[in-house]
Amino acid sequence: MENNNKPIVNLISKPKDMLRTVYTACRTCYSADMPINIYNDANDEEKMLKLIERVISSGHYSTIEHIQVSFAISNVSRACTHQLVRHRHMSFSQKSQRYVKEKGQFDYLIPPTIERNQELKEKFIKFMGEISDKYQEFVDAGIPAEDARAVLPNATATSMVASLNLRELIHIANLRLCSRAQYEIRMMVKGMCDALIAEEPWLKPYLVPKCERFGFCDEDKSCGRKPKLEELKNAANAVAVL
Ligand SMILES: Cc1cc2nc3c(=O)[nH]c(=O)nc-3n(C[C@H](O)[C@H](O)[C@H](O)COP(=O)(O)OP(=O)(O)OC[C@H]3O[C@@H](n4cnc5c(N)ncnc54)[C@H](O)[C@@H]3O)c2cc1C
Repeated sequence: MENNNKPIVNLISKPKDMLRTVYTACRTCYSADMPINIYNDANDEEKMLKLIERVISSGHYSTIEHIQVSFAISNVSRACTHQLVRHRHMSFSQKSQRYVKEKGQFDYLIPPTIERNQELKEKFIKFMGEISDKYQEFVDAGIPAEDARAVLPNATATSMVASLNLRELIHIANLRLCSRAQYEIRMMVKGMCDALIAEEPWLKPYLVPKCERFGFCDEDKSCGRKPKLEELKNAANAVAVL
C-alpha cells in the first residue's frame, strides 16, 4: 500500500537521570570524590550543563557513551534503513523479509520528488503493483520469501528497533541532519532527535547538523547556512594582514 511518506519514530527506552549520569561521568575525571557522591550531590543544572559542554567541546567523548537510547521506527523505506545500518555503533532488529511474507500489495514509500509529479507518481504506483504481482507469483510457485524478496524495491516499507549511545546519536545527528544527507534519513533522524529532545531538552544544542555545532561547513556543495572552512581561514588571514 502507498504510504504517507512520514517516518514514524518513537523513543521507547532511555535511562533515568541522563543529565546527572553524564555529569557524573564528566566530574569523576576531575574529582577526588567518589562517583556515587558526585551523582547524589548533583542538583545544580546550570553547573552540570556548563561542565558537560566544556568536556564535550574538548572531545572527551567517552563521557556520553554511558547513555543508551532505543527507538521504534516504522514507515521508512529499505533505502533509508540501509543508510542507517552503515552506522557501526548501533544495534538493530529489523522486520525480516525472510520470515514475514508480503501479503497483497506490499507497503512502499514514494519519494516526494515523484509524489509531486502526478504522471510519474501514477507510473510509480502502477510499477509497484506489477512488482507485487511478480512477488506473489514466485511465492505461489513455492519460492521461499527469502528469494522472492529479490524482486522487491528499495522503496519497500520496513520497521526496526534501533538502539545507540548518546555519542553515536550526536554523531549521526551531525551527519544526517545536514541538508546534504538524503531527505528520508534526514526526516527519520530528525524524528529520533525530536523525540529525545522532548524528554531531555538540554540535548538540543548537540542534536544539530555538524555546521551548527562547529560553526562552519565542510561539504563540497554547501547549502550556505554557515561559511565554508576556507572562507573562515581567508577571513582570519585577512584580519592577520590588517
Ligand atoms: C551525506 C552522506 C553521503 C554518503 N554517501 C555515501 C556513498 O555514496 N557511498 C557509501 O558507501 N557511503 C556513503 N555514506 C556513508 C558514509 O560513508 C559512512 O559509512 C556512514 O555515514 C557512517 O558514518 P561513520 O563511519 O562516520 O559513522 P559510524 O559507523 O557511525 O562510526 C562513528 C565513528 O566511529 C569511528 N569508527 C567507526 N568504525 C571505525 C573503523 N572501522 N575504523 C576507524 N574508526 C571507526 C569513526 O570516527 C566514525 O566517524 C554517506 C554518508 C553521508 C552522511
